[in-house]
Amino acid sequence: MRKLIGIFCLLIALFGCQLNQEKMSELVNDVHSFSKPAQVRVTHLNWQAKVDFKTKTIQAQADWQILYSKGDTLILDTKGLNIKEVKVDGKQPAFTLGNEDPILGQALHIPVNADSKIVRIIYTTSPTAEALQWLSAQQTADKQQPFLFTQSQAILARSWLPCQDSPGVRFTYEADVKVPAALMALMSASNPQQKSETGEYHFEMKQAIPSYLFALSVGDFAFKPISERSGIYAEPSVLDTAVWEFADLEKMIAGAESLYGAYAWERYDVLVLPPSFPFGGMENPRLTFATPTILAGDRSLTSLIAHELAHSWSGNLVTNATWSDFWLNEGFTVYFEHRIMEKLYGKDYSEMLAALSYADLQATITELTNSGMAEDTKLKLNLVNRNPDDGVTDIAYNKGYFFLRSIEEQFGREKFDVFLNDYFKDQAFKVMTTEAFIPYIRNYYQSKFKISLTDELFDKWIFTVGLPEDCPKPQSLAFEKVDQALNSWLTTNELPSKTTQEWTTHEWLHFLNNLPAGLSEEQMVRLDQLGKFTESDNAEILCAWLVQAVRYNYKPAYVKLESFLVNTGRRKFLSPIYQELLKTADGKQRAQAIYEKARPNYHFVATNTFDAMLKK
Ligand SMILES: [Zn+2]
Repeated sequence: MRKLIGIFCLLIALFGCQLNQEKMSELVNDVHSFSKPAQVRVTHLNWQAKVDFKTKTIQAQADWQILYSKGDTLILDTKGLNIKEVKVDGKQPAFTLGNEDPILGQALHIPVNADSKIVRIIYTTSPTAEALQWLSAQQTADKQQPFLFTQSQAILARSWLPCQDSPGVRFTYEADVKVPAALMALMSASNPQQKSETGEYHFEMKQAIPSYLFALSVGDFAFKPISERSGIYAEPSVLDTAVWEFADLEKMIAGAESLYGAYAWERYDVLVLPPSFPFGGMENPRLTFATPTILAGDRSLTSLIAHELAHSWSGNLVTNATWSDFWLNEGFTVYFEHRIMEKLYGKDYSEMLAALSYADLQATITELTNSGMAEDTKLKLNLVNRNPDDGVTDIAYNKGYFFLRSIEEQFGREKFDVFLNDYFKDQAFKVMTTEAFIPYIRNYYQSKFKISLTDELFDKWIFTVGLPEDCPKPQSLAFEKVDQALNSWLTTNELPSKTTQEWTTHEWLHFLNNLPAGLSEEQMVRLDQLGKFTESDNAEILCAWLVQAVRYNYKPAYVKLESFLVNTGRRKFLSPIYQELLKTADGKQRAQAIYEKARPNYHFVATNTFDAMLKK
């Protein structure tokens, strides 16, 4: 494989040609999709759907417009769909479904010819469709109405839409969605700001997106604007809190634009989901889906919104061609996120975030290496026969970030910013592979700045395990002060409240993550008195504290531990706590008992992780 990559890069370097991305995407073999877009490719979707909370299904009709058909079969990815009827330009062809693969689902083969224009599929989703989470009224903030949200990334779109489910295939769409009359439907598209009386909504998405950004949510939403082009959707009781928390939204958009060019998606709104959402946020175009766990009450966790916003460039505009190139989406986005935060709140602030990224990255590398998964610490991943979700680790995010930061620091920020601006402009609405990115940035730096980027640079960051020795090290003055406070606590048993009053979530996280090993019961009690951690509603702080509580068997936190695990579905918080519990036989029993209660509240993305981890 590496050899092939070498030859490929050499050919590009020899001919010095700009890579034709359309051709490029045809060359890319996405091991996570059955579709063969080089043969037959779709380009536009007309989706008619009825959302049924009683049966937990969506009854839908998908009309796919064909862009070209050089072969005789359109292959779509499906998973668990009940296909009722298929038509090609009004006629019923003999379609077939392939064998079922536990990760990839089934290929839907539809005979077409060079003149075929529209392929219609009438189908119903399964009540256990992996992308869809159906919540009862009880599981929402207001407890009045049921709630539905989708999570399509990485390859779950196929569980609610028969599609060419590969990030290399973009399409535009329009949709008509019918939901119960008291509810509002929202998509990654042009969205309503008020409920319709009939429960019928029309959507249009004119910018082409890959299937993993196809998104829908249905619930009792209200909307409030932040600026002309941005606003917040949430359940009525959450809306004002969220509007206050995200008050800087417009400043973030303007800041991002001043860094890397115009925002390409017209509106930028945020939808606050119930706590079972498995991720921090999902960058669905025009409408970021966000966890309510970032509503900290002090605006200290809004870097997550900066992250999802940054995806409007890195990921949504320039998209990883396969999930093995995931760092191209996430590494660039973390870099961009930190630059937005620096622009809005200064370097001291963004360096705290970078220092936390660095600590997370070190921990992930140690963990992966110790569990025999060292290969997964390379930026370029090998995900053949694996779930692409295996690639969602700190490596793509934070090793990717530090790689880009090392280029910035080595050759200058000004040059890197010029490069990034052109990268997002040239590659907008296209896909990128790692193997195409290397010659791209190389040629750019050579022709624009007369700087040669060496093989060694790419090799040690992208194709080598672990972290290069010359990885940039964030310098956070704020954290140095936290270290001093921590040392003083260890000798005096006191924390200067004047100092800690000023601390944001980040300082507390640094404090908790750097507690020395072997804390006594008295020390845990004292810490809890000083920091009031057990009663904290800040999910980040609570999670870091609960890990310590499990480690040192601190019983006063157990009730909170259980309610946190049962009521929160964000995998980032669940993983470290369950992992810590699993370290002892006693803890394992407790983890399994809690998981039994919690599991109905989790999305498939989370249960897929924890079923394996917590099976009896
Ligand atoms: Zn991201």
